[in-house]
Amino acid sequence: MIEEISTRVCIAGGGPAGMMLGLLLGRAGIDVVVLEKHADFFRDFRGDTVHPSTMNLIDQLGIRDAFERIPHARLPRLDAVVDGIRLHAIDFRSLPKPNRDVTFMPQWDLLDLLAEEARHSPSFRLVMDADVTGVTWTGQHVTGVMAQTPDGELRVRADLTVAADGRDSTVRQALDLGVDQFGVPIDLTWFRLDRPVAPVPDTLGYLRDGSVLITIPRPEYLQCGLLIPKDGFSDVKAAGMDAFRDRIRRVAPRLGSVVDGLRSWDQVKLLSVQIDRVQRWSRGGALCIGDAAHAMSPVFGVGINYAVQDAVAAANILVPVLRESGVGPAAIDRALVRVERRRRMPTTLMQRVQMVVHGVIGRGRDMVVLHNPPTMGERLAIRLVLPLVRPLIARLVGYGFRPERIDADVLGESGSR
Ligand SMILES: Cc1cc2nc3c(=O)[nH]c(=O)nc-3n(C[C@H](O)[C@H](O)[C@H](O)COP(=O)(O)OP(=O)(O)OC[C@H]3O[C@@H](n4cnc5c(N)ncnc54)[C@H](O)[C@@H]3O)c2cc1C
Repeated sequence: MIEEISTRVCIAGGGPAGMMLGLLLGRAGIDVVVLEKHADFFRDFRGDTVHPSTMNLIDQLGIRDAFERIPHARLPRLDAVVDGIRLHAIDFRSLPKPNRDVTFMPQWDLLDLLAEEARHSPSFRLVMDADVTGVTWTGQHVTGVMAQTPDGELRVRADLTVAADGRDSTVRQALDLGVDQFGVPIDLTWFRLDRPVAPVPDTLGYLRDGSVLITIPRPEYLQCGLLIPKDGFSDVKAAGMDAFRDRIRRVAPRLGSVVDGLRSWDQVKLLSVQIDRVQRWSRGGALCIGDAAHAMSPVFGVGINYAVQDAVAAANILVPVLRESGVGPAAIDRALVRVERRRRMPTTLMQRVQMVVHGVIGRGRDMVVLHNPPTMGERLAIRLVLPLVRPLIARLVGYGFRPERIDADVLGESGSR
């Protein structure tokens, strides 16, 4: 027997985009169901960065205290070590108070927090272990989704279906919106290293001899990502674990003491990097947001924050429409087009910047960011130009293009409970 639920909004996917939209709609009193295919949020591949734009929203939501109780690391400055030269590449202290740093918090903790907060709203419902398998239609109009759960099939009927099920979105595929793929020259190998006994200053990344190593400080260990050429993982494995460890030692000699902790390929995951964007973000009764609308590269770690910003923009535009009594499908569809208009430009611009960075770091051994010792021109750039552009980089990374704020109408009277 098929179980059935009827709701105003059905969201496929409980990632940052889906959970934030679910939370906001629930708070605004709109009936919403979020379907998440996994039984929990514990996924190692998820990014960890919570940027100032998202912290501003956490404040607006009034959940700062609950956020602070979760272990996290906070860095006001992100350093990159280029050929042994430490650069203070990004300094968030030039941003307006109070959120002037980047927070590293495991994404599952952030999602648990959003879920916990959302559950306070009677109109919010989260169904875990519900794998959305397709959408249902009446003519050209989407009327909800079908999902597989441990108890059998589930049909969710909804006035609006939102694809927030990530870059391999089942819903976006069913909607057949057309997707532009942008070539990416890199993939990422993803692994943990112990923190060295002799403390190493928190460093976002190391670049040397065409290699790039990302090191995200988590409380107990370093979450690391070593860039490799696109589709090159089998070559990396064929060269052997010794060669892999040597490469890490060369690019980040200060991590040499902990590299031997990597003993087998089971400890190394491949994360395929991709950038794409749907040609249209919506069609009758359905909308794509987050990576389902635009897969982001890990460059600048802005994907979570962009997914969250999409959710806020969608809530700001949709809540007044969904609250109107007797509102019809045509009015909802017009609102969906407005969401796309608002978010397409900031997404496109950020993806373009990410592609420029790919162009530089994808050159492998031909990549020259800085000489050691730096040339006269490079020394001048570090001393004179970097301080001038640093605040701009902080804004770009911290806020992205067109950061969103939650409308008072969506937040309710107090903003917090
Ligand atoms: C290697 C790598 C590292 C990254 N690092 C960072 C970083 O440090 N910081 C950062 O901000 N961004 C990072 N990103 C980007 C970031 O992970 C994404 O942009 C962001 O998670 C998108 O959020 P989302 O909610 O749209 O999608 P997702 O986070 O992908 O969430 C989608 C959710 O939908 C669920 N789902 C999928 N299919 C179904 C289905 N059929 N039915 C039901 N549920 C489903 C998934 O389980 C998941 O919970 C990184 C990306 C990559 C590739």
